[in-house]
Amino acid sequence: MPIRQLSETLIDRIAAGEVVERPASVVKELVENAIDAGARRIEIVTSGGGKSLIRVSDDGIGIPVDELPLAVRRHCTSKLDGGLDAIHTLGFRGEALPSIGSVARLTLRSRRRGADGAHEMVVAAGRPDGPKPAALSDGTMVEVRDLFHAVPARLKFLKSDRAEAGAITDVVRRIAIAVPQVRFELTGSDRSPLVLEAAGAEEPLARIGAVVGADFSQNCLPIDAEREGVRLSGFAGLPVFNRGNALYQFLYVNGRPVRDKMLLSALRGAYADVMARDRHPIAVLFLELDPALVDVNVHPAKADVRFRDPGLVRGLIVGAIRQALAGAELRASTAAAGEMLERFRPYAGDTQGGFADAPGRGSARMPFGGFAAPRQANYDLGGSPFRPLGGAGGGDGSSADAGDGAADRFSPGFAGLAPAARTVGAEPGETAAFPLGAARAQLHGNYIVAETGDGLVIVDQHAAHERLVYEALKAALHGKPLASQLLLLPEIVDLPAEDADRLAEVAELLGRLGLGIERFGPGAVAVRETPAILGAVDCPALVRDLADELADSGTPERLRERIDHVAATMACHGSVRSGRRLNGEEMNALLRQMEATPGSGQCNHGRPTFIELKRADIEKLFGRR
Ligand code: ADP
Ligand code: MG
Repeated sequence: MPIRQLSETLIDRIAAGEVVERPASVVKELVENAIDAGARRIEIVTSGGGKSLIRVSDDGIGIPVDELPLAVRRHCTSKLDGGLDAIHTLGFRGEALPSIGSVARLTLRSRRRGADGAHEMVVAAGRPDGPKPAALSDGTMVEVRDLFHAVPARLKFLKSDRAEAGAITDVVRRIAIAVPQVRFELTGSDRSPLVLEAAGAEEPLARIGAVVGADFSQNCLPIDAEREGVRLSGFAGLPVFNRGNALYQFLYVNGRPVRDKMLLSALRGAYADVMARDRHPIAVLFLELDPALVDVNVHPAKADVRFRDPGLVRGLIVGAIRQALAGAELRASTAAAGEMLERFRPYAGDTQGGFADAPGRGSARMPFGGFAAPRQANYDLGGSPFRPLGGAGGGDGSSADAGDGAADRFSPGFAGLAPAARTVGAEPGETAAFPLGAARAQLHGNYIVAETGDGLVIVDQHAAHERLVYEALKAALHGKPLASQLLLLPEIVDLPAEDADRLAEVAELLGRLGLGIERFGPGAVAVRETPAILGAVDCPALVRDLADELADSGTPERLRERIDHVAATMACHGSVRSGRRLNGEEMNALLRQMEATPGSGQCNHGRPTFIELKRADIEKLFGRR
């Protein structure tokens, strides 16, 4: 066949393959157009997961009648007057409407602000018709019917109506976060309605809370940082408030929602040392920079971006979030505490009956064996009575030796805790003044119950100790090496040769952490010393875990993250197992150490290390208030 020019319709359809991947991409394009037109109100109606109908109406500026035919023609746009280096709108490629028109039946109806009446264009099978007079009070309405009917191959790849409807909701939420001043209404036969009321600039968390969940507002830290003209703002979730997937990460570049690999990986890096690798932080982050320093024209869907200086942006994100997290210190998640509270709820169903006959009397029996208050119970628990501790740093005097470096304060188990920490009075009156209070009891071999000035604190000793060991290991990486313990006989650990190589490469670093390792033939290493802080360790298990860690974490650029992971892996091996009995002095020493250690409010896996219940709330639980 000779070379021929493709027909316009075919060109549009090929382009449509990239712009219009699924119904949600149509919604994204249409909503972006409405925002570019200055809309304050956007209504979206769908049916059949967007396959049978998508209708987007806005109250924006509208399209002049003589421009209507151009709006549905390829490469026609009203937005690119400053060139590709100065893009201030969401759209600029002039592709969306013609692409949609080539794979669906498209109606574009609009009334230019101030014009006498509205007009419409209809595009069916790529053929435009109009403009003709039509009825519309203001703005623009775009209706898309029978999407992909002419492209059965594409239709086959779509998911169920429910899944496509869900993807549409996700797209609307994502865009809506960037424009809180716009009211959104998403309805249709395939969904339950979503209404997002307009929110003012003075309440930055209103829209975010409506989209991400109200509890995020109470469990996030504000981020605001700038580096060389790049500004980062938004909110980062507390590590303990994490998710099993990355769907709750909302990233924006100059107001444009993006799912960019580099940005997502920077976010992951920021949380690397406070979160297990299979958990994901929640975050809403806005990057603002000169449009000339970022290319949004990487892909027709515009979800990927390229930064002129990716290192700068990555550093800004990692640095700003880490700093915010470090500043959060002893703050525990109120969500975690709220869950705990459920377990504390008193039985309130039958005041005459004792606990023994309670389950038979119609109260809900909770799976964990506590009793839920029936609905009519009038206990007002007022949300979550658990409160994060105020930014308590080192208490008063308990961290007197902080200048020596955290490394000095550790040795096997608790025996070597800081002298200052150990001598802090066992006198209840004194210790109760500390943020984490005075230890009163150890329950189930792992939970320390402490009395504070105005409440009680329950500490997960295993999680807390793991965190403290980890912080000490990290400190040792940058300061004085950790003390080690010489093994009587070196322990030989057999490993695949690549693993042994990788370990040998970082032998010096491991040495700083107190782990003395040497190559021992092709497929083994000899362990001569172990970090004293870890106590007795299972050398083969530790060495193999470290080898796995090094194998997993790839490239040398990620050395910092890698080192943090190595420290985390070692901390896991050295933590006080739950089940270990502690005496009062040891327990108090642990509490003081936690107060003196930044980031000790959560363990390395992002779980809280302690929760607090205020006395006022205990009294409420007993109906004394
Ligand atoms: P782009 O958004 O890249 O310019 P589109 O194909 O999405 O390309 O839209 C083409 C043109 O139609 C836009 O440049 C704009 O002038 C006009 N337009 C589309 N939708 C609307 C709308 N909702 N309100 C006002 N004008 C619109
Ligand atoms: Mg557009």
